[in-house]
Amino acid sequence: MTIEKWANDLLQWVPAANIKTNESLKQYTMTKLGGLADVFVMPETEQQAVAAIKYAYENNVPLLMLGNGSNMVVRDGGVRGIVVHFSLLNETRINGTTVYAQSGALLKEVSKQAAANSLTGFEFACGIPGSIGGAMAMNAGAYGGEIKDIVVLCKVITKEGQVLELTNEQLELAYRKSIIAKNGYYVLSATFELAPGDQKQIDEKIADLTFQRESKQPLEYPSAGSVFKRPPGHFAGKLIQDSQLQGKGVGGAEVSTKHAGFIVNKNNATATDYIQTIQMVQRVVKEKFAIELEMEVKIVGEDE
Ligand SMILES: Cc1cc2nc3c(=O)[nH]c(=O)nc-3n(C[C@H](O)[C@H](O)[C@H](O)COP(=O)(O)OP(=O)(O)OC[C@H]3O[C@@H](n4cnc5c(N)ncnc54)[C@H](O)[C@@H]3O)c2cc1C
Repeated sequence: MTIEKWANDLLQWVPAANIKTNESLKQYTMTKLGGLADVFVMPETEQQAVAAIKYAYENNVPLLMLGNGSNMVVRDGGVRGIVVHFSLLNETRINGTTVYAQSGALLKEVSKQAAANSLTGFEFACGIPGSIGGAMAMNAGAYGGEIKDIVVLCKVITKEGQVLELTNEQLELAYRKSIIAKNGYYVLSATFELAPGDQKQIDEKIADLTFQRESKQPLEYPSAGSVFKRPPGHFAGKLIQDSQLQGKGVGGAEVSTKHAGFIVNKNNATATDYIQTIQMVQRVVKEKFAIELEMEVKIVGEDE
């Protein structure tokens, strides 16, 4: 009854085709596991997004922002309340050296467009499978580059539905941290400042980073990327490798034999398999090296 009411109320602002109930989140997360969202809404405009967020706040409905689901594990019991997905808010615009992208635009696409305009600075993100929103929240980074280096402005919605524009400094970006995650803001768009570059060098850098990623990461299996943050002075992957955990796991989940920092959904894993594998890795690494591995991946939802 409540689920129907929420979905029905949202119809005031969002077209019916963009509101689903009891929607499986497997298809929206890169681990390809987990349960259902009570209500799943895909706003087409910023106004629709603000309205949905305000509605959730004013009616005390739990709300989860899902980006491209590349750093998220949804528990098997699914997510109560409203899940907002920004995949339809995905415009990218380039003006000189300034790149504007909406929250649902994929890093890979923005990186391609920047490269096609001979702009340098976004190459590091060419293989990160997230959206602009998720990348802003996580301060995504790779191969020596990170969002912090290039973002100048980010438009967010507060939990209460107020729209703010935050500068690079106000975003408090640090290793996999931001004020967005800290304060529970929702990203609408971001503006980046790049530099004019040499087309050949940009293309070569992208080809090189793609090669490095494809040769080192188990991209043939569903996963959430690097599960753990880098502990100070160490590499999570190396600690896991030295704990002889590669190839081990619970049920259909397994510590990748190609990259120890990844846990792959090898054979129809449940979220419980995946999470128990994470816990097993944390336990063994702690026993062996007295180091606590902190999760980079976000675990959301309820157990079955
Ligand atoms: C194969 C693979 C390789 C990866 N390599 C890298 C890498 O090199 N570097 C790296 O940094 N990460 C990497 N990742 C992890 C992931 O791609 C990044 O963390 C990415 O930034 C997550 O973006 P997303 O849109 O998928 O977010 P999601 O996974 O959907 O969400 C992640 C977090 O961001 C929040 N979020 C999402 N959208 C919004 C929004 N609009 N507003 C507010 N909060 C939001 C979510 O609520 C959640 O807390 C990899 C993942 C995979 C599967």
